[in-house]
Amino acid sequence: MSVYSHSRLSCYEQCPQKYKLQYIDKVETEVEESIEAYLGSRVHETLEKLYRDLGYQKVNTLDELLDFFRSEWKKNWDDSVVIVKEEYGPENYLKMGEKFITDYYNKYKPFDQGKTIALEERVLITLDDAGEYKLQGFIDRVMESEEGYYEVHDYKTNSRLPLLEYLDNDRQLALYAIGIKDRYPDVKDVRLVWHFLAFNKEVDSTRTDEELESLKKGVIELIEKIENDEKFAANPSLLCDWCEFKPICRQWSHLYMIKEKPENEYLNDPGVKLVERYVELKAKEKQVTLDIYAELEKIEEALIVFSEKEGVETVFGSHYKIRVKDTECYSFPSKNSSDRKQLVQTLKDLGKWDEVVQLDTAALNKIIQEKQWDSKSLDVLEQYVRLEKSKRLYLSKIKNSS
Ligand code: SF4
Repeated sequence: MSVYSHSRLSCYEQCPQKYKLQYIDKVETEVEESIEAYLGSRVHETLEKLYRDLGYQKVNTLDELLDFFRSEWKKNWDDSVVIVKEEYGPENYLKMGEKFITDYYNKYKPFDQGKTIALEERVLITLDDAGEYKLQGFIDRVMESEEGYYEVHDYKTNSRLPLLEYLDNDRQLALYAIGIKDRYPDVKDVRLVWHFLAFNKEVDSTRTDEELESLKKGVIELIEKIENDEKFAANPSLLCDWCEFKPICRQWSHLYMIKEKPENEYLNDPGVKLVERYVELKAKEKQVTLDIYAELEKIEEALIVFSEKEGVETVFGSHYKIRVKDTECYSFPSKNSSDRKQLVQTLKDLGKWDEVVQLDTAALNKIIQEKQWDSKSLDVLEQYVRLEKSKRLYLSKIKNSS
């Protein structure tokens, strides 16, 4: 089994389709680094230098550190770095980095809060006794404040300050705590410390052994879910703007196709025409006649055919887009049929009747899809159901950044 990482798990949680493209298909893209990631890397390098030099008894002045930061910024800069927030330029991000470093330096100077044990350290975390489930990660800095009291430090350059409840549930550093406990036998406690550099704020948290055990269990379940996933469904969200696979993703590829066409041709694109007409009819839906319903149905069919033929999941108009989504639903014997009566009796015999109060088919669908019952009960239940596949259309407005 692959060695996982926190970012790999987060990628799946964000969008299973992106996970598949990145980790299974290993699709190569011209990796465009975001300005946020670029800023984060340069700030991390600078703070790493600060502590590495301290290990050699060299205390950098603030000016020396800022010079290092600026020279690394210049040396690594590439015009392909992506700035999604178009109202800001690289100089704004450079100044942000200078401010982060200045505030951090002034807050912690002379940097005698503890002994730095490791910098940018790789940890391997074993989640189960058999050693089957493993994760790896890189810790920004490990510090020992006093004998046996370890601290995991993480620098954040986000322009958002998460609430403490979020930090109390944060998975990444808690996983690193497991790695530290495994690695250093004299551990008495591990403190998790986040430095939110944009706010000049330090936030900390700890985890009990029970919490770490439950975290391991949860991560194993997530890994099993990934290993058993067969569909890797797309989960389009605002984060698509930062996804390197957007140009090839079936949710967005039609948009890229029509963007390349001149305006007169663009309006002739069959997908655009279908969406325009669909939107027009939807707007008139309140005063709808049967004819319009019939045309809507035809357009829905045509959109499904178009999406299948072109191999796209989302079809774009000029202002709206329509997502054509595969759906699956189990259907149950109709009310008053003999099969229905038999099914009710079977559920009662299985002792499952209370769970699906009055044969709530939505609850039963969920039970089957999420395999909530043991396999024997599911097998019995499945004798009464039919899996029906269909496509559903989701209409939404295209945001400007798309
Ligand atoms: S563009 Fe969005 S939907 Fe497509 S793979 Fe990336 S994150 Fe997923």
